[in-house]
Amino acid sequence: MTQDFATRIIAPGSTIGIMGNGQLGRMAALCAAELGYKVHVFGPGTDSPTEQVCAKATVADYTDLDALRAFASDVDVVTFEFENVPHDSVKLLSQLVPVRPGWKCLHLSQNRLREKTFCNENGIGTAPFAAVLSLADLKAAIAKLGRPAVLKTTEMGYDGKGQVKITDETSLDDAWAEMNGAEAILEGFISFEREISVIVARGVKGDTACFCPVENVHTNHILDVTIAPAKIPADLAKKAEDIATRLVEAMEFVGLLAVEMFVTTDGDVLVNEVAPRPHNSGHWTIDACITSQFEQFIRAVCGLPLGNPAHHSNARMKNLLGHDIDDWQAILAEPDAKLHLYGKAEAKAGRKMGHITWLLPKEG
Ligand code: AMP
Repeated sequence: MTQDFATRIIAPGSTIGIMGNGQLGRMAALCAAELGYKVHVFGPGTDSPTEQVCAKATVADYTDLDALRAFASDVDVVTFEFENVPHDSVKLLSQLVPVRPGWKCLHLSQNRLREKTFCNENGIGTAPFAAVLSLADLKAAIAKLGRPAVLKTTEMGYDGKGQVKITDETSLDDAWAEMNGAEAILEGFISFEREISVIVARGVKGDTACFCPVENVHTNHILDVTIAPAKIPADLAKKAEDIATRLVEAMEFVGLLAVEMFVTTDGDVLVNEVAPRPHNSGHWTIDACITSQFEQFIRAVCGLPLGNPAHHSNARMKNLLGHDIDDWQAILAEPDAKLHLYGKAEAKAGRKMGHITWLLPKEG
């Protein structure tokens, strides 16, 4: 790796390589363009939400080594908008071009066991957990953690996929069968008052900036609504921001990290999971903050000074899933609704097609 890869400033006019081509890449590419950058996107599938708005696209599998090398030679920095890009591919790219965040951060956040172990090693609380590699492990873990508990695959799970809640009625054989032999983690069930997230940026010089904590309401395990800021006491908001900041510092992270947390019924804040990229719970920042999460992401990845993440308005963001977007005319007829659509051709059930943000008066 070239010496200056860690600190090199990527000036406007350069090309940013983004691995992953969904709506997060699309909104990041739009902000990159506003700052004078070009984006080259890498991912499978043509006419992707990101490809539609960027200068160049490589349509290839994430493990296509020739395509990865050609991509690296065409871009000035690489980042990702999708955390399940194989870390070996990202490791290869990082020998050729600055990659931010680094592959080690990606590797850590790809696996729930590594992620929670890292949090605990750094004094950050999580649900109690145990590794589960067999039915015998599951039985031992249940004996230790009790019921209810949640069994999750350690990798590739999102939006509630690869997860089973274990109650008094659940058969452990059935729960283990649902993991399909994949490595799993058993987590004690957290009695939470609400779910919140904090998005934090860290620049190449170690400077950090947090967006305020927001509350996330899930329906069928998919984010439905984000309320910004979260209606929590100031001491808890500070604790959540401190946790997010400690995490990026401990990870030596450069870029944007989203930290999902539980506010427990007894007033504690525990980390559930992290995502090393822009996050659905930060979409409200496009309309309500001085610097949006996507602009901050581009600034951090390019080694630019971070922008001010303060919000000028409170906001409520609602995801549009599947055929929700068929209502686009009614939504647009509401003058205060800020509609964002992702250019996806097919409205499948549960698929994130767009979102609406409503600005609200800022209190206080
Ligand atoms: P995850 O995929 O880890 O984000 O989990 C999806 C959702 O399941 C979370 O947003 C929570 O609502 C719920 N959940 C996950 N883990 C736990 C837990 N240990 N205790 C209680 N609820 C959980």
